[in-house]
Amino acid sequence: MWDKRPHFETAPSTATDLHAYNMYVLPDMHGEPRAGGHGNDGKVNPSKYGSIKELDLGLCYETFFSDKDCRHGGRCRWRHAFFRPEERSWISSLGAKGVVDLMEYAWRTPHAPVCSAFDIQRGLAA
Ligand SMILES: [Zn+2]
Repeated sequence: MWDKRPHFETAPSTATDLHAYNMYVLPDMHGEPRAGGHGNDGKVNPSKYGSIKELDLGLCYETFFSDKDCRHGGRCRWRHAFFRPEERSWISSLGAKGVVDLMEYAWRTPHAPVCSAFDIQRGLAA
């Protein structure tokens, strides 16, 4: 099997373990409950772009993985800011180039998102 570990070691500083943050914001019931009653935190699972939970970019699911605008707008607990060049190339290095293209399309569809609370907290430019 292809070894991704060298690529995990070169992850951008914005890819971090968000478990504690997720536990903090989860009581807000950010996303819609999934079928089967499991909670949905409203964030893109990092495995969707080839990463692991320890290297999570905190992407808002509606912004980066749907054709809808985020219903929470500027109050969203997850990231709306667009990819930095180093993040884009890092995700591509994980074998997820097609996913980056898909997420970039979703990001601007139907509108480019407003800056979120996550962006402001982390100092990310939208
Ligand atoms: Zn959002």
